[in-house]
Amino acid sequence: MSTKAYIGLGSNIGDKKINLGQARVLIEDLEGVRISEMSSLYETSPWGKTDQEGFLNQVIEIETELNPLELLRQLQAIEIKLGRRRQVHWGPRNIDLDVLLYGREIIDQEELKVPHPYLMQRLFVLVPLAEIDSELEFPDGSKIGEVLTRLTKSADTGDLRKL
Ligand code: ADP
Ligand code: MG
Repeated sequence: MSTKAYIGLGSNIGDKKINLGQARVLIEDLEGVRISEMSSLYETSPWGKTDQEGFLNQVIEIETELNPLELLRQLQAIEIKLGRRRQVHWGPRNIDLDVLLYGREIIDQEELKVPHPYLMQRLFVLVPLAEIDSELEFPDGSKIGEVLTRLTKSADTGDLRKL
């Protein structure tokens, strides 16, 4: 049985567009993973740690037979393959792959938290998610449209530009 999951891709070093493209190719190559939808690419101002280059972000929807932890570990292996080193928390990285949602599961482990802990606060994740599914409902029952409306009313959401 396959589960629908969402992965957030981000890059702010080197050729960001190529980095995201290579990550997508490696994700598609994974056994038990099929990319079913892709958002546009978004240029975003850095979040959390603001003294660094802007990011390029994208969200993809997958159908997967991997369980959540297997999926995370495969994504981490891809990060390493693409040359990511463990660096400053929220600091620059050529590739960052996050599990945003895994079906309607709620997971709260040190190694894996789903929905991704900052999902509800990050416009650069919510906007591309809504582009893929404007009716998306989170495991707590909240709807993406409502979450987005609430967030855009609050200050300091950062800049976002669709490529
Ligand atoms: P961030 O993505 O928050 O900028 P990292 O990519 O360096 O930071 O991730 C740090 C840790 O977050 C990883 O060791 C991973 O085990 C953990 N983690 C917890 N939940 C998730 C998730 N949903 N997706 C990806 N990593 C996660
Ligand atoms: Mg990450």
